[in-house]
Amino acid sequence: MKRAITSPLGYLWAMPNTLLGVAMTPLTLLSGGRVRFERGAMELYGGFAAWFLRNVAGGAGAMTLGHVIIGRDKPMLDFTRDHEHVHVAQYMRWGPFFLPVYGLSSLMCKWKGKNPYLENRFEKVAYGLFPCFGEPPAQEIAQAAATAGENKPA
Ligand SMILES: [Zn+2]
Repeated sequence: MKRAITSPLGYLWAMPNTLLGVAMTPLTLLSGGRVRFERGAMELYGGFAAWFLRNVAGGAGAMTLGHVIIGRDKPMLDFTRDHEHVHVAQYMRWGPFFLPVYGLSSLMCKWKGKNPYLENRFEKVAYGLFPCFGEPPAQEIAQAAATAGENKPA
């Protein structure tokens, strides 16, 4: 998986989805959010990114668009990073077809009376490898608060 993440072809194939995420950058920065780069992916959190997750993405803590991971805040990004990177790998495999097949899988679940999120075949793989339900453990929040000094205005 690591080789795939660093593959230029993987970045290129996932690019249409990555650009959707990149498009959220200006609004996120203008609304007080932040950008950082971790493990070969761009991470957006706070501001518009947090608003988007709350109001458009059904209250998700984080979500992935190609090589962009959108998170509610830093602790949530740290908590969900392994899980979201499974999706990054899925984007690199499916490229522009990822969102349609992800949506199709959810529709099939709904049709069969299953949970369209948790029973989605791509989520089952991601949760199977890295379960990250609910809120980040208190320890991670404390850790993030301890390093938050870098973000405080002088
Ligand atoms: Zn997921």
